Amino acid sequence: MVRYVYDFEDGGRDLAGLLGGKGANLAEMSRLGLPVPPGFIVTTEACRAFLAGGEEPEGLCADVSRHLSTLERAAGRLLGQPDDPLLVSVRSGARFSMPGMMETVLDVGLNDASVRGLAKVSGDERFAWDSYRRLVQMYGTTVMGVDQALFDEVMTRLKEARGTSDDLCLDAADLAWLVEAYKRLIHDRTHRDFPQSPAQQLREAILAVFRSWNAERARLYRRREHIPDELGTAVTVQRMVFGNLGHDSGSGVAFTRDPATGRPGLYGDYLPNAQGEDVVSGVRDAVPLAGLERLDPRSYRQLRAHARTLERHYRDLCDVEFTIERGTLWMLQTRVGKRTAEAAFTIACELVREGLVSSDEGLARVSGDGLARLMFPRFDASATGEALAHGVPASPGAAVGVAVFDRAQAVRRAATGEEVVLVREETTPDDLPGMVAAQAVLTGRGGKTSHAAVVARGMGKVCVCGARDIAVSAEARRFTARDGSVVEEGTVISVDGSTGDVFLGAVPLVASATMRYLESGEQADSVVSAVARALEHADAVRRLEVRANADTPEGAARARRFGAQGIGLCRTEHMFLGERRKLVEEMILARTDADRDRALAALLPLQRRDFTGILEAMDGLPVTIRLLDPPLHEFLPDRTDLAVRIAAAEAAGGQPDAHDVELLDAVSRMHEENPMLGLRGVRLGLVVPGLAAMQVRAIAEAVVERTRAGGSPRAEIMVPLVGAVEELRLAREEVTRVLAEVGEETGVPLPCPVGTMIELPRAALTAGRIAEEAEFFSFGTNDLTQTTWGFSRDDVEAAFFAAYLDKGVFAASPFETLDREGVGRLVRIAVEEGRAARPDLETGVCGEHGGDPESIRFFHDVGLDYVSCSPFRVPVARLEAGRAAL
Ligand code: PEP
Ligand code: MG
Repeated sequence: MVRYVYDFEDGGRDLAGLLGGKGANLAEMSRLGLPVPPGFIVTTEACRAFLAGGEEPEGLCADVSRHLSTLERAAGRLLGQPDDPLLVSVRSGARFSMPGMMETVLDVGLNDASVRGLAKVSGDERFAWDSYRRLVQMYGTTVMGVDQALFDEVMTRLKEARGTSDDLCLDAADLAWLVEAYKRLIHDRTHRDFPQSPAQQLREAILAVFRSWNAERARLYRRREHIPDELGTAVTVQRMVFGNLGHDSGSGVAFTRDPATGRPGLYGDYLPNAQGEDVVSGVRDAVPLAGLERLDPRSYRQLRAHARTLERHYRDLCDVEFTIERGTLWMLQTRVGKRTAEAAFTIACELVREGLVSSDEGLARVSGDGLARLMFPRFDASATGEALAHGVPASPGAAVGVAVFDRAQAVRRAATGEEVVLVREETTPDDLPGMVAAQAVLTGRGGKTSHAAVVARGMGKVCVCGARDIAVSAEARRFTARDGSVVEEGTVISVDGSTGDVFLGAVPLVASATMRYLESGEQADSVVSAVARALEHADAVRRLEVRANADTPEGAARARRFGAQGIGLCRTEHMFLGERRKLVEEMILARTDADRDRALAALLPLQRRDFTGILEAMDGLPVTIRLLDPPLHEFLPDRTDLAVRIAAAEAAGGQPDAHDVELLDAVSRMHEENPMLGLRGVRLGLVVPGLAAMQVRAIAEAVVERTRAGGSPRAEIMVPLVGAVEELRLAREEVTRVLAEVGEETGVPLPCPVGTMIELPRAALTAGRIAEEAEFFSFGTNDLTQTTWGFSRDDVEAAFFAAYLDKGVFAASPFETLDREGVGRLVRIAVEEGRAARPDLETGVCGEHGGDPESIRFFHDVGLDYVSCSPFRVPVARLEAGRAAL
């Protein structure tokens, strides 16, 4: 026979799956000898059986009756006994806390007779009728389905008639009248009577709590919090204790430490003469716990002692709900409490110091997301402005600046010391100087892996992208906000990259001490010291190395300060912009080999300088340089702009600029409908003569220069977007040839490993072959996600991911958190088959997932050697790589 009911004495916190969090912790508290009103728990298994079968599972009723009898015997009175009723609360309690999402019925057992008995034994008629009207109301809504608003209306009318707005001004007769009015309301709406049988009340209340598991709001909450739908809720039935029995009674909530700062000491609120739900709902203002210390020092001392017991027992911050009934303290609930990131680090560090938890456990209790929150400058939460727009929170942090609409303005204004926010419909590599100059980037289109987002994160810039409720007009230098107001260039706006909100005006910023520590080592306060301890321990235990994606000497240097152990991805496309575009144009437009060679020769020393700087900043550590990846037309002007320019010149009766005409011809020839799937990656190197050779030569010469300067350069050359081993073989031949050439010319050995990115399903599926030609694999999980799902990384997030998340197609964007089932499977296959072919194959990941906590766990499990992420994610990745190794 299945056991559907447990007494508190039989349970414990290890049974949280069966008894729910609340039930399991109540059981734990009773076992610890804390004053918990006695009760029993109906299991989640009973709930699952009820929801699956649509009726009360066999045996449940008998189980409940048996445990109720035990409760009644201990109390010396029966549920709803007319002269002295035992009353119970019936509360939901799932495995994972879902605050306020499900139902509760209090004061079960009251009826027309027992309300009088309660009045007599309590000596408080008002209290008895108030309890009864609460039961009728809660039961009416939860069990019988009457709209709460209708009860509120009756109450409001009564208060109006009495000329008051305060419940406390209603007397016993008023409340008795209210009970009758509520009962009539229930009958009118349901054609059924409020049940007078206490046993029926209890049974129906339990089933109603089960049903509330599937209420719309509970389902929505679970989806957002990734709580599985099939768990079900437990139901706790517990003897009622009353905090509303006069001035020596009350209810409160307490934390064993301050959940905002982590500082030790009892912390919380107390409401005299009130039931627990009054504290949470804020109907009256509570007093700090210090107030309780004055009002009832004995209960306060007991509460403090219990809090200490709980914290020692759970070895963590706990929160508790308690009630004082005529001077007697009762503990009604406890759980390991939620806390801010600041408190999480502080508490973990403190508990390790106190010897209550090991360093490993301390590390398990903090998170990379929390660390990221501590790193970003923040808006002062108490001072937000007028909301202009909302978009995808793509790169967290807070920034204030004047809106500008093109890179020239951004650069010009920034040069004069102004802070600017670059607002674009979407960004292209062309916008880079503007992004560098800006404090934040706001775009109307694109998702979390759009250009704007990737680049902004790489630079640690705030970014909100895909704000579809704004209309950006770069020509008119303004955007229209969602309320129709127009934001002109030069208007100050505030961008919150952590929430996706954009505000008019300057919302004040709070600087981050954690960031100062990471930059300079300065440990300004105890939070920062706690962060430092956690990172130290993570570094000691992690197996994964952490590298950075960086393509400037400054980025490399910062990454190194943040603890990067090399560069896992140096993208070279940003090195082809600015004044170098002219040379790139010449290379693309060259009619003869000699013309092209001249353009490439002019680019060579500039590239060499780029690499020398980066190799110097990362001296002694590996620097993986990727050969050019994006389609070349990204470096040419926009086709429409050119066509318009030419048409305008012709319309004015003049001759269009010959260079424009030539460019338009080239751009048209190179135009691709799907450039992401076109002439890019290794394909470029194979069909554009001299391009890869120039890049390899620049790398090789930079290595020579650094070696001669006494450094230890460790360049690695990476070929992007390979799908077949033949592509890599050809590319590698070219790389090896140029390396040998430079080696011979200079006499300096060039032991540069050559490897490839795995970012196409075909590459993953033929990894054994590809490993024959690759000394390392770096998973480009941005493109691998794009090509595995067939999702355009630049479009889909803003277009329909919100709907997909709502419908539960996936719990998180696969561009953010690696899709283990699909993309992850390809990664696993490639690692296994690659290593089988080449046992010393080095493997890493350099897609955005390399900085995502959830994904880092997977990369650890699958056995990668390193993750590479933007410099600002390096500390987060170090921490998470440590946690993954626990
Ligand atoms: C990737 O595709 O994951 C990658 C790192 O390359 P990029 O984002 O530059 O395409
Ligand atoms: Mg890629």
